[in-house]
Amino acid sequence: MDTRNRNFDVLVIGGGISGAASAAALAQAGYNVALVEQRDFAAATSGRTSRLQYFGLSWLEGFQDLPQILKRPGAFLRALHQARLSLKGRSQFLRRAPHRLTPLEFFIPEAPDVGLSLGKLKLAMRMMQGLDPFGAGVQWRVASAEEASRFPTETGRAAQRRGIVYTDYQYAWPEAVVLDRVAELRAAGGVALNHTSVTALAPSGTGWTVSLSTRRAGVPDVLHARAVVNCAGIWADALAQGIGVPKLAAGEKGSNLCVRLPDAYLGRGMQGVSEYGDPFYVIPWGELHYLGPIEAKTDDERAAYDTPTDSEVRRLLAEARRQMPGLDPSEIEALFVWSGTRPRSRDRNGTPSGKLRVLGPGRTGQRHYFAVTAGLLMLQVELGRRVLDAVCADLGTPNARRSVPPGLRGERPGVPDAAAVARMVREGAMELDDVMFRRTALGWGADMGVGSVDGVASAMAAELGWSPADTRERVASYRANLAKTFRFGRLGAPDGYDGQGPAQPHI
Ligand SMILES: Cc1cc2nc3c(=O)[nH]c(=O)nc-3n(C[C@H](O)[C@H](O)[C@H](O)COP(=O)(O)OP(=O)(O)OC[C@H]3O[C@@H](n4cnc5c(N)ncnc54)[C@H](O)[C@@H]3O)c2cc1C
Repeated sequence: MDTRNRNFDVLVIGGGISGAASAAALAQAGYNVALVEQRDFAAATSGRTSRLQYFGLSWLEGFQDLPQILKRPGAFLRALHQARLSLKGRSQFLRRAPHRLTPLEFFIPEAPDVGLSLGKLKLAMRMMQGLDPFGAGVQWRVASAEEASRFPTETGRAAQRRGIVYTDYQYAWPEAVVLDRVAELRAAGGVALNHTSVTALAPSGTGWTVSLSTRRAGVPDVLHARAVVNCAGIWADALAQGIGVPKLAAGEKGSNLCVRLPDAYLGRGMQGVSEYGDPFYVIPWGELHYLGPIEAKTDDERAAYDTPTDSEVRRLLAEARRQMPGLDPSEIEALFVWSGTRPRSRDRNGTPSGKLRVLGPGRTGQRHYFAVTAGLLMLQVELGRRVLDAVCADLGTPNARRSVPPGLRGERPGVPDAAAVARMVREGAMELDDVMFRRTALGWGADMGVGSVDGVASAMAAELGWSPADTRERVASYRANLAKTFRFGRLGAPDGYDGQGPAQPHI
């Protein structure tokens, strides 16, 4: 960063999707923007999602017949609004970055025990089609019991169920989606700083004085910005402590389990209901699948926001068995789990909700201070637009637009050579995780990058001046983190347990 540049129009705090999409939209509109992230871009919740660009069907759950709709008409209208927003988000994402989305087929079985008949499923799909003027369309068909039997969830059931098959989309590598937006920000003249945290905010005559603590060379301790946009996810309230902003965010932890299934199920997905009555998915992911999410309400588990607890691991393993009753446990190779905590919105009365909110001075109580809550990957385009509208209304529209093409970054999913690692370091990678998960997807492979981490580490060592002992320590710590944060190598098949982890899973 140019150390002479300490004055910005807008400072965006938090380099997840909310911050990256906001900063990119603001910079392209002509504002002078800085984005500040305390770890690496997409290292928090945005790298821990279920990776689905839902078309919004699950918003209609609980409204399966007329009496249910008449009982809560207001809630039904809100659900329709959210479903429509999801459809809009999908069309916008597909137009902006089609190369980041993979179409997948999901089966939903009829479930007479919970009142879900084929007729109701068909009606719900027709309603979704009616809500979609945005262009991507809703593709679905009725699946016979014979077709259903090819999905892992139905294998081995005594009476095969009918159902529907629909197409949804997956952004298989969410970190890349965030980094695309960071690249757009930079191409539009903005500044993006990772490994730099905001430690204090203070109103000043013309905006905000912002104190920073950084690991990067050449970054000043203090910046000034006319406006601040707080996109710090579940840390949003902690950041605003002391400046009189009311509590705006809440947290909901979710976890997924990654498995390898027999080849016959490659590419086949399923949407069902968990033991606790929540939507539950079996989601294809290249040669693998993942299952989830299971959810746990939380406000104060921030220390463990991305580390699954013993009981979450047990629930996921049990759910894997429950969702795929026809598969022998030896056919389900459980590889690793991951968790993240969704930043949810908190209404004026304190109630959490999943509604995307862009809150301006009227709600935050501070001049030129904005906060984004419940920002979703799948709504990233809409989110950026709303932040831009809110900031323009406050600061006035800038004169010069700086449009850049979307998705500027080249695709780099494989093992990088020394030149590619050097480029990644120049772009801001400082730790092994920054390359293994964010600038390549090696960490998300079946071996979680264990086979390639030594090569990446020596290339990073050459760039960053790590000593041989330091490099060995970083590799050991990478592996230790896989065991702790992802339980990698510590999960047996769902029916078994290797004895090294925290508890015997009961399945
Ligand atoms: C299990 C699970 C499944 C999900 N599935 C989906 C899905 O299928 N589709 C979908 O669209 N969404 C999904 N989500 C939701 C989605 O992941 C989140 O809503 C979204 O990633 C939130 O992005 P964010 O940028 O607001 O927060 P984050 O990604 O958490 O980013 C906030 C950033 O702020 C930084 N920060 C905090 N304090 C400071 C500070 N003082 N200074 C600098 N930086 C700071 C943090 O380090 C962090 O990187 C899922 C979430 C979970 C947990």
